[in-house]
Amino acid sequence: MGHGVSCARTGDEHDYFRAAQLGDLDALTALLAADPSLALRATLYDRLSALHIAAANGRLEVLSMILDRGVPPDAVNRHKQTPLMLAAMHGKIDCLLKLLQAGANILMFDSVHGRTCLHHAAYFGHVDCLQAILSAAQTTPVADSWGFARFVNVRDDHGATPLHLAARQGRPGCVQVLLENGAIVSALTGSYGFPGSTSLHLAARSGSLDCIRKLLAWGADRLQRDSAGRIPYAVALKRNHGACAALLNPSSAEPMVWPSPLKFISELDPEAKALLEAALMEANKEREKKILNGTKFSLPSPSHCDDDDANIVDDTSSEVSDTELCCICFDQACTIEVEDCGHQMCAPCTLALCCHSKPNPTTLTLPSPACPFCRGSISRLLVARTSTATAGDPDKPASPQLARRRSRRSHNLSEGSSSFKGLSSAMGSLSLSKLGLGSSRTVDSDIGDLDKPEHDL
Ligand SMILES: [Zn+2]
Ligand SMILES: [Zn+2]
Repeated sequence: MGHGVSCARTGDEHDYFRAAQLGDLDALTALLAADPSLALRATLYDRLSALHIAAANGRLEVLSMILDRGVPPDAVNRHKQTPLMLAAMHGKIDCLLKLLQAGANILMFDSVHGRTCLHHAAYFGHVDCLQAILSAAQTTPVADSWGFARFVNVRDDHGATPLHLAARQGRPGCVQVLLENGAIVSALTGSYGFPGSTSLHLAARSGSLDCIRKLLAWGADRLQRDSAGRIPYAVALKRNHGACAALLNPSSAEPMVWPSPLKFISELDPEAKALLEAALMEANKEREKKILNGTKFSLPSPSHCDDDDANIVDDTSSEVSDTELCCICFDQACTIEVEDCGHQMCAPCTLALCCHSKPNPTTLTLPSPACPFCRGSISRLLVARTSTATAGDPDKPASPQLARRRSRRSHNLSEGSSSFKGLSSAMGSLSLSKLGLGSSRTVDSDIGDLDKPEHDL
């Protein structure tokens, strides 16, 4: 077998591949019973095995049946593409998972552009496949031999990482997942696109506002030039992506950026992270509105003020009174709790505390944020538990929904650039006694002229 040439190419073989494509398990079983060697055949020109065909067409039963017969999962076609790559290209998550489970190698490179399955998932925008491959990368030998971080940033023959491809193709979901898994936001391409492009250049080229938002929120540099000397702004202008250009214009307000030590984020409690993420997106959206205001590019504005929303806010007003008000902004409810000291504040204030406008390119290290109330170091951020005893279940976290609704109210976080430094110096001017160390109700009477310090000084 393996050298099944001309004379061996029978009608059976044609039927076999056809059955794999259609997911006709009965026909396939009968054909294999008659000629078991069919299992290892490939189509004449493209060298597609039945596994390739099943994976590309999402035929899970066929795929499973062939794998169960002991056929190795990593056969390659004419372009050195594995069934896993085809599943990733076509977004066939069930087949992809089955192949991973069967031990398919995630670190194979095709001969077209030298791309891995991760590249293909990112390029075609299949977030679920991307995530599955990344989880596999954490548990398979790839993690030991290559290291997970290196795999996330694996380059193709043209120096393109999966993040570059996702940005170029306008795949914000994939951009997000890759960034959260350690994709380097400032990585330059080799010869892909214009040489020396960043993901921000490529997102500017594709005109994807969502990708640009995410990249900027992860610290992408608007001033980085490609080998032709162009900043992403110039790329967006040239492609007539006006709204993108407005955000990329170096003279427009800097967006808020996630805290640079990624470790800090990955250690975040998922609920706390969701709250902070919502606060960050909200803040940046407010900022965008200002940037785009007066230009002809207006964003679809979220319906803040419709009647339904007003009713929802009213419904929650009793809950609001049960919740501690944030002692920094005196505007929003405390939703985040600092460990180990237990001080609480709202998500936007926490974000302002941990954010800085740009990662320091030279040191890459930041003074780790401290609790603004006691100056103690922050070991973890958690969703605040409601402190009132009436809440009944003290273990029940504050509703993220509630917090999000509240964060929709106008919030001055959106202006200018916020930095930990700015906030901490602002906090320095407030005496601890006036802050009331977390019990906001004692503060209300003697707050005087300290009300609502800016988040972003
Ligand atoms: Zn606050
Ligand atoms: Zn504290």
